[in-house]
This record gives sequence, structure tokens and C-alpha cells, in this order.
Amino acid sequence: MSYAYDDQNIFAKILRGEIPNDTVLETEHSLAFNDIQPQAPVHVLVIPKGPYVCYDHFAQEASDAEIADYTRAIGEVCRLMGVEQGGFRMISNAGEHGVQEVPHLHVHILGGRPLGRMLE
Ligand code: IMP
Repeated sequence: MSYAYDDQNIFAKILRGEIPNDTVLETEHSLAFNDIQPQAPVHVLVIPKGPYVCYDHFAQEASDAEIADYTRAIGEVCRLMGVEQGGFRMISNAGEHGVQEVPHLHVHILGGRPLGRMLE
């Protein structure tokens, strides 16, 4: 499948500096910021800086450097937010069935309280 990236999405605007964000971590290829409507005491979104719609798009087209940077940024955010001890959940919604609202790849990192079972 090929993906068309909409550069008017809200995270593209954040990356261009057109909309403010509450940055947690910035690396060469990734940005992490607090979710504007947190669902847990820790709710951080981690995005690649490149124009990727979802994880499949990223895995197909990102460079090894981008993939390494993004993977490590997610781990670093967990340590920075102090959720690696108590535990956390990573979610990346994709497409219509995944109910993805913002069409720029993002991983939600949730933690800071017991999150309950997600899959039954
Ligand atoms: P999705 O449903 O996985 O696409 O999640 C999109 C997330 O982006 C939601 O949790 C929103 O609260 C969050 N969000 C939308 N706009 C902003 C913003 O400007 N700053 C931070 N988070 C945002």
C-alpha cells in the first residue's frame, strides 16, 4: 500500500512551529510532547519528524537512522517520565479501523496509574 501524507495535519504544523507544543524530548529525527487531552498522569506522544502517516508507512520508507532514533526516543521518553518502573502502555492507532485522528505517525505512551486490561 502507498500512503499520501497530508502536510496540513496538526502534528505537521507542530513540527513546522506553527502550533505550540509541550515538548518532552527532541532528537534529530523525533519529537515527543504531552498530549493535549491526557488520558493518564503520563500521556506523551512521540512522532518522527519525517512525513509518515502510520507505522507501516514509516517501516517502508524511513531510513535506518530514523527508525533507530525513533525507537530509542520512545524508550528515552519512558525513562524521562519515570514510567519504566511501574509500567506503561504504548499505542499507535492507524487508519479508519484504528480510529487514527491525526494522520502523522504517533505512539501514545501512557502510564502513571494502573491502566487496566486493554484486550480481553
Ligand atoms: P489518535 O486518535 O491516535 O490519532 O490520537 C491523536 C491524539 O492527538 C489525541 O490523543 C489528541 O488529544 C492529541 N492531540 C491533538 N492535537 C494535539 C495538540 O495540538 N497537541 C498535543 N496533542 C494533541
